[in-house]
Amino acid sequence: MGRLQKILIPFLGLVLAFWFYSARENFKPEMLKGKRVIVTGASTGIGEQMAYHLARMGSHVFITARTEAKLQKVVERCLELGAASARYISGTMEDTAFAEHVVQEAGTALGGLDMLILNHVGTSYFGYFNGDVGHVRKLLEINFLSYVAMATSALPMLKESGGSIVVVSSMAGKVGFPFTVPYSATKFALDGFFSSLRQEFAIQNVNVSITLCILGFIDTDSAVRAAADVLLVAPAPREECALEILQGAALRRRELYYRYGGTRLPLLLRDWAAELLDYLVRSRYRLDAMK
Ligand code: NAP
Repeated sequence: MGRLQKILIPFLGLVLAFWFYSARENFKPEMLKGKRVIVTGASTGIGEQMAYHLARMGSHVFITARTEAKLQKVVERCLELGAASARYISGTMEDTAFAEHVVQEAGTALGGLDMLILNHVGTSYFGYFNGDVGHVRKLLEINFLSYVAMATSALPMLKESGGSIVVVSSMAGKVGFPFTVPYSATKFALDGFFSSLRQEFAIQNVNVSITLCILGFIDTDSAVRAAADVLLVAPAPREECALEILQGAALRRRELYYRYGGTRLPLLLRDWAAELLDYLVRSRYRLDAMK
């Protein structure tokens, strides 16, 4: 009997795991065809690539960032790639009134909203915490409060469409990372707010999905400029990263990890071997390059 249990329980575990994964829906580009999507921080980097993928899939793309000239070019490219429509609005997310204004403008222009992709990130420094509390506050406004303001403004439209909120975060928002203290604080805040909100949606039967995206090092210009000399890991491609985010969003995943091996697997250590994980994180830096 004991031996039977030893074989039967792992076998049942395997069968259940196989059933769970094979029963999951697969992504199809048609899932995003005709969808009305806001992408923030889309003048460059991962946001720009998400706009192009959405355009290829035939979505209505509404993008925002500060630099108008870049947004104009991204919109032109989106139209060439086959977007159902493409528009932009420029301004700074330091101002929550602007964040709310973007949502209202998109809602009016598109007649509603299916997906809100919160991706922009304010400029910070890469180095030891310098004690500048004002900078932490400013970054919280850009990277956190504007996300809250946009999600709050968009919620009535997303409830109506059964839509999705996508929050682009980082490994640095799940585990302590050195040299990005203010940035990490803003990303941890996003997890707290949106994971709690997801719980309330479940209790209240609100049919709006929230996908939190946990990204590792990606080869965008700003990230490579800031960290490539110090990080001992190779950055992953932004085009692939952007596509993975959209797939996870379309499938209404709770959390998305990219790349999986470099993010999800180390995080499994977080609760049981936190000090080992801290050590592994530190070991990915060329510490002698940091003064
Ligand atoms: P990026 O290339 O630096 O792009 C940032 C975007 O945000 C740009 O479009 C920028 O445009 C906009 N932006 C900056 N400040 C703004 C402000 N005050 N108001 C409005 N828009 C503003 O960033 P990325 O590397 O693609 O990162 C995208 C997301 O992925 C971020 O949430 C980041 O935290 C996350 N992530 C990235 C990495 C990575 O290694 N790249 C790793 C983990 C997580 P303007 O300058 O024109 O405003």
